[in-house]
Amino acid sequence: MESILVLTHADETNTALTKASLEAITAGLELASRLSAPLTIGIVAADATNLSQGLPCPALVVSGESFAQPRYATDAAACEALCRAANATIVLAPGSSRFARVAAAVAHRVNGLIDTHITNLNVGSIGGTETLEATRWFYRQRIEAVLTRDVRPWFLLLDAGTHAPFAAADAAQPVITEIAVELPALRTTVTGIRAPKQDEQTIRPDAKMLFVTGAGWTKKQPDGQTHVPEASDLILGFLRLTGASLGSSKSLVDQGGEGQSVLPFLTHLNQVGQTGATPRHAKGLSTCCHGEEPHVVGWRFIADRRAISLDPNCGWTRGKADVVYVADAFPVIAKVNELLTKGN
Ligand SMILES: Cc1cc2nc3c(=O)[nH]c(=O)nc-3n(C[C@H](O)[C@H](O)[C@H](O)COP(=O)(O)OP(=O)(O)OC[C@H]3O[C@@H](n4cnc5c(N)ncnc54)[C@H](O)[C@@H]3O)c2cc1C
Repeated sequence: MESILVLTHADETNTALTKASLEAITAGLELASRLSAPLTIGIVAADATNLSQGLPCPALVVSGESFAQPRYATDAAACEALCRAANATIVLAPGSSRFARVAAAVAHRVNGLIDTHITNLNVGSIGGTETLEATRWFYRQRIEAVLTRDVRPWFLLLDAGTHAPFAAADAAQPVITEIAVELPALRTTVTGIRAPKQDEQTIRPDAKMLFVTGAGWTKKQPDGQTHVPEASDLILGFLRLTGASLGSSKSLVDQGGEGQSVLPFLTHLNQVGQTGATPRHAKGLSTCCHGEEPHVVGWRFIADRRAISLDPNCGWTRGKADVVYVADAFPVIAKVNELLTKGN
């Protein structure tokens, strides 16, 4: 019989579990009910006991200042200790940078195997035996594969945005067991995190909307001139007012390397598509972008797709967007920003 461990960790405030951890708990609950398997939640945090309130099942916790910040040696030791204590056959964990860094090593230490970028978990049947099936995408989200494995423990790193985050219905206090961890000699001292301010950070995986900019923003407009500073103000204004995440076509981010006038806040990390990212957001608005296949393949997980383009024959109008506004994006976004400012 299977048994399930969900590994979770605190966010950078150390006062709550990360959203991706809460999503992994939902995945664990769903799977435990389908397999009728016992579920345990493992927590790694500075004060893990506080974070276990309201959890729906027993919790194994690793606590202490050493676990307040991500660090390979401490996180790997903590996860290994939790896995050995739970002795589960299936280990689910969020595919966060913190756990993605250590999960393969932990699987190796406990003689397990790992698969990453899992988007769905199902229970099928092989020869009449209930079998766990994990789904992931290959080849830039073009091929969806269903994986099964005999080896246990089987570690599965879940992609963010694939499950609803767990929300505690009451303040129930589950049974908590503190797990002691023997730490190796630590060579790394975490002195802090240096990150851009929130409003400078344009890639926002948790945003409801993806706002994509295409090369059209920097092209000559009907008056024969380019309007890059104006484009920059409109885009940043829209992002500030909506909290949307900023994506870009390849053509636009490539322009920086070609010495052309570009939008300084865009990098290749913003690129969406075949050679870029495949983000997950409830809605997407594409502007001044042609909607070619290598770009649109990155929109696979955007539920509601809209585009603003001057070209009535662009790729978006050919069945790739739900709604296309054939219009000049400059006045449209200026008007939207004006309405959003009034509404705020
Ligand atoms: C192997 C390979 C991999 C690739 N990978 C990617 C990838 O990962 N991501 C990606 O994006 N591309 C990728 N590409 C490139 C892709 O094929 C397209 O060339 C690119 O997406 C086009 O970018 P664009 O639409 O911004 O620019 P353009 O094709 O130049 O289109 C600009 C659009 O803006 C419109 N426009 C101009 N002014 C306005 C205005 N005022 N208002 C409204 N609309 C306006 C124009 O009508 C035009 O449709 C790849 C290509 C190859 C060959």
